[in-house]
Amino acid sequence: MKVAVKSWLLAGFAGMLSACGGNGDTAGQKETGVVQSADWPTHGRTPEAQRFSPLSSINLSNINRLGLAWSVDLETNAGQEATPIMRDGILYIASAYNIVRAVDARSGKTLWVYDPDVREASARSCCGPVSRGVAVENGRVFVGALDGRLIALDAKTGKPVWEVQTLDQDHPPAVNYTITGAPRIVKGKVIIGNGGAEFGARGYVSAYDMATGKRVWRFYTVPGKPGTQDGEISDQPLKDIAASTWHGEYWRWGGGGTVWDSIEYDPELDLLYIGVGNGSPTNHGIRSAGKGDNLFLSSIVALKPDTGKYVWHYQETPGEAWDYTATQPIIFADIEMNGAKHKVLMQAPKNGFFYILDRATGKLLAADPIARTTWASHIDLKTGRPVENPEARYYLTNQPALVFPSSGGAHNWQPMSYSPETGLVYIPVQDMGLPFAGEADIARQAGVYNSGTIMTGGAAMNDADLKEAMKQMKGYLLAWDPVRRKVAWRKELAATFNGGVLATGGGIVFQGNGARKLAAYNAKDGTLLWSFDAQTGIVAPPITYAIDGVQYIAVMAGWGGAWPMLGGQFAEQPANGVGNNRLLVFKLDGKARLPAPEGSAYLPFDPPADTAPAAVVARGDSLYGQYCLRCHGIGAVSASMVPDLRRSGYLADSNFDQIVVDGALSSMGMPSFKGVLDARDVAAIRAYLIHRANRDKAMMLPSSQR
Ligand code: CA
Repeated sequence: MKVAVKSWLLAGFAGMLSACGGNGDTAGQKETGVVQSADWPTHGRTPEAQRFSPLSSINLSNINRLGLAWSVDLETNAGQEATPIMRDGILYIASAYNIVRAVDARSGKTLWVYDPDVREASARSCCGPVSRGVAVENGRVFVGALDGRLIALDAKTGKPVWEVQTLDQDHPPAVNYTITGAPRIVKGKVIIGNGGAEFGARGYVSAYDMATGKRVWRFYTVPGKPGTQDGEISDQPLKDIAASTWHGEYWRWGGGGTVWDSIEYDPELDLLYIGVGNGSPTNHGIRSAGKGDNLFLSSIVALKPDTGKYVWHYQETPGEAWDYTATQPIIFADIEMNGAKHKVLMQAPKNGFFYILDRATGKLLAADPIARTTWASHIDLKTGRPVENPEARYYLTNQPALVFPSSGGAHNWQPMSYSPETGLVYIPVQDMGLPFAGEADIARQAGVYNSGTIMTGGAAMNDADLKEAMKQMKGYLLAWDPVRRKVAWRKELAATFNGGVLATGGGIVFQGNGARKLAAYNAKDGTLLWSFDAQTGIVAPPITYAIDGVQYIAVMAGWGGAWPMLGGQFAEQPANGVGNNRLLVFKLDGKARLPAPEGSAYLPFDPPADTAPAAVVARGDSLYGQYCLRCHGIGAVSASMVPDLRRSGYLADSNFDQIVVDGALSSMGMPSFKGVLDARDVAAIRAYLIHRANRDKAMMLPSSQR
């Protein structure tokens, strides 16, 4: 637990790693009455959001015949996280920058493309210009845009029908919010949240009339400034339940609690469930004077969908301090536990425990660790509270603490799936820790990463620490038995960060991975049955659908999002290079071939000499963490579309500040930091990068030893 004297001050990566959607009747017909069982009509396919399809044409006996049917090239090299929606023979996808596309689901022909032009807004996204998809209903396609707009498109033409700005202008800085999650349609309303807690935000979820875009209700997840009210449906529960759990001057940073992914609806109980995010800032000591549970952070909250009225909540991580969101996907199931039938919801949030709640009442039925959890030994089922390890509260001990899971979570947004046939939940798990150390105080500045935890990204870690940390990182596909509350099987994967999961009636589990494969496993025992070289890492979840009796598997391939922040080590393996982003669609006896992959475009290390004083490098490290890290990666190791600055030819260029301050590369997406960083700041950042490049050049070569 203790990080000893080593300079493990890398914390604050918090939240950089920071969306979801189904029913056992297998038809998903409850809501609309028109959906075909062969479709994938909503984010999680049915209201239960199990990401299970009963389709079984592709099965254990013929999986070896699965081949590429066709593919669609996507326009960017940014991360792809979306769940495709398939209705009435048309696939609707959202790629990076919220670019929406309708594609003939049989032929792969693109029918229309809509680009909301959000490139300007992408710089304020914590984790890349990603989108987790669209909702399709009533002849319209709904997409949330990075710049906060909710847009309704005509499903036939892709032309906008209405759009509305969802960002909260009354609780600045609104500029810090982004939408990356997929909208959900519930009873004629579009439900949407947003992200931004890493930059100072106050979380909320809103409902808009599906036909007109008029706002129906809004629910804030955390209280505003004491003595103030919002005039919204959340006022009462915030005052009666949440307010007394907050201390200090939390409102200065917004408090957090953004609802950036998980939103599910149970039509039978008429309850809407939202997963609430981490605190802002992450450091509970700064946010709430180190006291209080801070409701409704890191909680599942049940609301009435017509009005947004509060019904119940369950908080998974009281006094959240490690970016432990409860925004991870929620799955419904009807299962028998302890001799009784329960309507449950299941979630594997970031904090490393697998939770089962009675979804009518919010009562905790089970909570078990699915990865290494050093912040808490277990969850007390009587009180529903974690039994914590006091050393994990780094801001109280004033000692850096290496905490498992990391702020990326033991499980993040990549959807898990549940097969009612095997009774197992399939979870993409990453087992890794992160050192946390508190900051005394933090600047209140818009657009700046404000976690209150020290983030040095690498300069403060020595090479041995870095190598050891990387070695310890492990990724698994975990099959969890929710009834027996134990692991059924566990498949160790080549990469730490991997894709969402699909389970099918063919007895197969499909998952893309960080080692650029789409893979198929036997749902019962995890045996690898089949794989396909996608030429890029996959983080998005696969779906399946059928047309005229032919079953297809579809997945958005494209490495990116939050994962490269810590997953930079994969960038050193050419096989995991970014690019080649595509929608890939497979069928039995598919004969299509991808073009030969482009070679690795990594520049060699060629930095100027490392001559700056240590104090300047340290200052550059700190500034890098605040301003550069969220795009260019921890330790300046980039595996995303943005340049790896350790290899940048501009390091040797005295015009470096023309790029950073004057915006010389703004047309290529590098924003200007004029008025934010001065010449001395830029010189320090450059010195830090030169230091990193020299150190890594020495450490990483020859690459065969990595
Ligand atoms: Ca976060």
